[in-house]
Amino acid sequence: VPAQVETVASLRAALGQWRRQNLKIALVPTMGALHEGHLSLVRFARQFADRVCVSIFVNPKQFGPAEDFSRYPRDLAGDAALLDGVGADLLYLPNSAEIYPSGFATTVSVAGVSAGLCGDRRPGHFAGVATVVAKLLIQAAPDVAVFGEKDYQQLQVIKRMAADLDLPAQILGAPIWREADGLAMSSRNRYLTPAERAIAPALYQVIKDVAAALANGGSVAALLAEGRARLTAAGFTQLDYLEVRDAATLAPVESLSRPARVFVAAFLGATRLIDNVPVDKR
Ligand code: AMP
Repeated sequence: VPAQVETVASLRAALGQWRRQNLKIALVPTMGALHEGHLSLVRFARQFADRVCVSIFVNPKQFGPAEDFSRYPRDLAGDAALLDGVGADLLYLPNSAEIYPSGFATTVSVAGVSAGLCGDRRPGHFAGVATVVAKLLIQAAPDVAVFGEKDYQQLQVIKRMAADLDLPAQILGAPIWREADGLAMSSRNRYLTPAERAIAPALYQVIKDVAAALANGGSVAALLAEGRARLTAAGFTQLDYLEVRDAATLAPVESLSRPARVFVAAFLGATRLIDNVPVDKR
């Protein structure tokens, strides 16, 4: 298993040794229950850094009161073995008393990119994410920090925050890692029943088709209406959103004058799945 630290002091001691050797350091924040998607981030990070530190912290502040914080999957032994296999150099397991010390009263909230999409459906979620990621970046002071495009809005929130607060880390987005049938990997996929798992790839199929039709000049409104109908017909029990947004600002788009992406969030039973794809104009 990779070396493991659980306090800010021991994290800084470990990273400080590397920094004094002029080694570039990458941080990959996660909530554990690791899968190939997380491991792809570690491999991606390695292209930009000499040492890769992975953090695992299931952050209570980014879960809503009706969400799955208490039942979120936790498997530290399995995670450590996977990280060893991919050659991660350090595993940081923050203790909650240091992340949220008694009397904790600070929130980092990022306007603009946090609005709409998951921001509307999960009130407080991105402030919870931004607050904990700000802390992790200040604690570790990495040269680069890697986040998945799977959570594309989260990536834009963190980029905005890092720029606004002069957090010195370079924020990098890594491509979405998918199962063979196209389903984006997620720790929450393990909640799916076999019947739900069979329906789940339709999420990617629909946004891929919408993106391709948009690239060929189709109408945004008509394609989204058709896509929503297909998701319902496939068996998704609740559609949070299916939208086309500007890839950088996340503002809604009606025409494709700038790079755009298709975003979706939908439930299969109690499990909420998200995905997104770029619209590649040809
Ligand atoms: P999580 O543990 O779900 O909070 O995710 C930790 C990091 O892994 C985030 O930056 C996610 O965007 C990223 N991630 C999760 N699933 C995938 C995936 N299938 N492909 C790429 N990145 C992912």
